[in-house]
Amino acid sequence: MQVGKGKVVSFHYRLKDANDNLLEESHGGEPTAYLHGNQNILPAMEAELEGKQAGDSLQISLTPDQAYGEYNPEAVQRVPLKRILGKENKNVKLQVGQILSVDTDKGPRQVRVVKVGKFNVDLDTNHPLAGVNLNFNVEIVEVRDATEEEVSHGHAHGPGGHHH
Ligand code: ZN
Repeated sequence: MQVGKGKVVSFHYRLKDANDNLLEESHGGEPTAYLHGNQNILPAMEAELEGKQAGDSLQISLTPDQAYGEYNPEAVQRVPLKRILGKENKNVKLQVGQILSVDTDKGPRQVRVVKVGKFNVDLDTNHPLAGVNLNFNVEIVEVRDATEEEVSHGHAHGPGGHHH
């Protein structure tokens, strides 16, 4: 069975940057499962997987443009500490490099602390993989027809997919 619209694809992957640093991998855990044709994964990656089948392994190289965008220096924002910490957590000490989840006008977002001052904190709202060339090594584990429920939800269920 080939990867195409309406198929649920399970795959293992290893993700490295251009300097061969391992960023993520699924080996040792559940394979990732997604519903093909629904932009559950990066569109450029979906395009590479089209027509492949279980047992195939492939190298997929994506530029930042095809992945999480270029790094935007203007996406670093200075925010009052008290807005981040709230009254209850007044004495929490933020660390440079720490990842926080904050509410923005675009919904909750992961941000990275780049500088901590007495009253303000500088937060980098770029995606952690912005500006990074991504090299995926993908092994397709299974290709199957999506269930009606999966099609109506627009995502894969079961191991490696969504759990409700
Ligand atoms: Zn669902």
